[in-house]
Amino acid sequence: MKQGNSVLGGYADTIFDVMSGLARQYKSVNLGQGFPDDPGPEDVRRAAADYLMTGHNQYPPMLGIPELRQAVAEHNKRFYDLDVDWQSEVMVTSGATEALGDCLFGLIEPGDEVVLIEPLYDSYIPIVRRAGGVPKLVRLQPPHWVLPRDELAAAFGPKTKLILINSPMNPCSKVFDAEELGFIAELCVKHDVFAVCDEVYEHLTFDGLRHTPLMKFPGMRERTARIGSSGKTFSVTGWKVGYITAAPQVLKPILKAHQFVTFTTPPALQWGTAVGLRKEDAYFSKLASDMQAKRDRLVNGLRDIGFEVMPSRGTYFVTTDFRPLGFNGTDEDFCRHITVEAGVTAVPTSAFYNGANAPRHFARFCFCKNDSTLDAALERLSAHFLKRRKP
Ligand code: PMP
Repeated sequence: MKQGNSVLGGYADTIFDVMSGLARQYKSVNLGQGFPDDPGPEDVRRAAADYLMTGHNQYPPMLGIPELRQAVAEHNKRFYDLDVDWQSEVMVTSGATEALGDCLFGLIEPGDEVVLIEPLYDSYIPIVRRAGGVPKLVRLQPPHWVLPRDELAAAFGPKTKLILINSPMNPCSKVFDAEELGFIAELCVKHDVFAVCDEVYEHLTFDGLRHTPLMKFPGMRERTARIGSSGKTFSVTGWKVGYITAAPQVLKPILKAHQFVTFTTPPALQWGTAVGLRKEDAYFSKLASDMQAKRDRLVNGLRDIGFEVMPSRGTYFVTTDFRPLGFNGTDEDFCRHITVEAGVTAVPTSAFYNGANAPRHFARFCFCKNDSTLDAALERLSAHFLKRRKP
């Protein structure tokens, strides 16, 4: 029997599915996979439902329905003062996941080098490799995940075609600051490199920090593809509606990949997303402030239990070091242990590294949950760890 593709066949099942399966099996509180308890804004869901019943449920245009492309362009102007032509510079995809795939398949040739920053979202490396790219990894170190500038500069060379940046960053909840982004931009311009920016958490930054797209920096407008997602911005992760903003010459090859991957995205969900992107400013600021309160609730509780908690400046997530609890196994052992023994699930952070030498003492918890869910998880963890410590 012949074998399937060896690059993809070599990967284990995604850790999110594995941990969610385990969570279901042990009926644990699942703070592993990042999906909100919040059902998403009613008007956004209602708009999609109405469109489903009364709208045009046939193939929409390949680039996306005009209303959503216009809303994406307006959103770029409103939040970042980016002037975007909705007709030639916006494309809708089936989630940021497809957008990332389209960008990589559309922009790189076999043998091209792609600069990536670890820890990283789990789809990046398989897609880069399947597209024939050669990953060049630069690692951020906890607890502050500062960009190691010399290492980043050394990762760029004559074969570099593209850098993939995720800010705000999953899993380590870093938000790149203006100086770091400026430095990245200079390297991209100097080496004539594309930037693909996974900005799905653009509206989830905390402590007064604001997200700035790399696309805003000098020389970047014409070489950057910026990716957003309805899943994170409207708390509807099952919708899988993504949107790419890029200059026409960058978008064109990406569009070719989209044409052969999904071609289109369900129009009702595009319509709902357009309504969402046009919501009032207060919606977006409340999304962040509500999430920050949830972060504080979980972080304080985890600290009280004895975890060492890394700073979380954005996203749905917080990274914790579990060694102070006296647990000596790996992160996978720990996540399995708390699922089975405490009834709470987290994700081992080593899943966000490219194999060798990954740190093995971090677990990622998500806080995009109802307060009652967070409290239940904290009660279970404290009953398990604090009870054990009592004489
Ligand atoms: N990028 C990052 C960093 C993510 O965390 C996620 C979702 N967890 C995605 C991309 C995928 O987004 P979507 O669901 O829109 O495909």
